[in-house]
Amino acid sequence: MAPPTRFHLNFVGDVMLGRLVDQLLPTHVHNPEEAAYVAKVVASNPHLKNYDYKSPWGNTLPLFHSSHLNLINLETSATTHAKPWPDKVFNYRTHPANVQCLREARIGYASLANNHTLDFCGEALLETVRMLKDNGIQFAGAGETEEEARRPAVLDLRDGEEKYQVDVWSVSDHPEDWSIVPNFHLIDYTSATRLRLKQLHTLTIETERSDLKIFSVHWGPNYSWTPSDDIRSLAHFLVDECDVDIVHGHSSHHVQGVEVYKGKLIIYGCGDFVDDYAVKHGHRNDLSAVWRVGLEVNQGDVGKRLKVKRLEVFPSRIKHFQANLLPRDDEDHQWVADKLRVLSKSFGTEAQEELGVEGQIVVHIS
Ligand SMILES: [Zn+2]
Repeated sequence: MAPPTRFHLNFVGDVMLGRLVDQLLPTHVHNPEEAAYVAKVVASNPHLKNYDYKSPWGNTLPLFHSSHLNLINLETSATTHAKPWPDKVFNYRTHPANVQCLREARIGYASLANNHTLDFCGEALLETVRMLKDNGIQFAGAGETEEEARRPAVLDLRDGEEKYQVDVWSVSDHPEDWSIVPNFHLIDYTSATRLRLKQLHTLTIETERSDLKIFSVHWGPNYSWTPSDDIRSLAHFLVDECDVDIVHGHSSHHVQGVEVYKGKLIIYGCGDFVDDYAVKHGHRNDLSAVWRVGLEVNQGDVGKRLKVKRLEVFPSRIKHFQANLLPRDDEDHQWVADKLRVLSKSFGTEAQEELGVEGQIVVHIS
């Protein structure tokens, strides 16, 4: 058995607390149509009457509570503003009081660069940002200003007297319509984007020291098993040119493979962690995972820095608007494990053959 690592970070993909999840929670936005639909769902599933702020996380909460830092993609606006972004198929919002869900899971970081935080226009995005600030939850990818949207969130990991700094950036490659919003960090795959990302990184290292760099990206089309050449090339660029240690990818709705690249970790797609979506057979968007990353302290030439040692993947399933970890004898656990192994192998990355003691799939990084 591998020795314990010094710090644990948990990553998950989309956390969508809007629409039906919002209506089930004790506080929710005014939406009679969704409320009527939820009333029918509750009538046939009476246990949902007790759905509260802990409910979205199911039995995964202890894993979040035992981590040093939890990072999510918040796939919704949190607002009472009701004017939807025009001509968009899905517009999500959750009541700002539902930030209590994030507090219950001790979420330390929420990515705001995705295709839903502007679903109810600019004022709603600002309300979302202020909700996170008021609750001490760090964020990046959108903000009150352009500068705030592009700068990294700065978080601390502490071990006794020792303190390590973690910087997290967030960007999204869609929707293109939102390129007109300066306080939302949209990217494409041009050399201009690369230059900007490199400049942002360079500005940061001039002003402060970072012990771990994380880049959170909402990228690619839905329901695609393999990242495009553009995506893979950008991931490598982030490692090669921006010194990124962990790429936290999401958007595909289902799990994708991971790549260990030059001793750094690229998670191409975390999958949707909790939502109210219908299940697409074949792609199994109800199956996901908590992606736990183990870090060690490395004594390098320029002092101590954090090093990514290990990835542990805990398969989970969404059912009735709740995520739950899967026992190792559940056939869906096997499904996630097989998918992860096959997709990662196409990048030359092998998961350990034996599962960990908690049933997790283990990938050694360095
Ligand atoms: Zn999305």
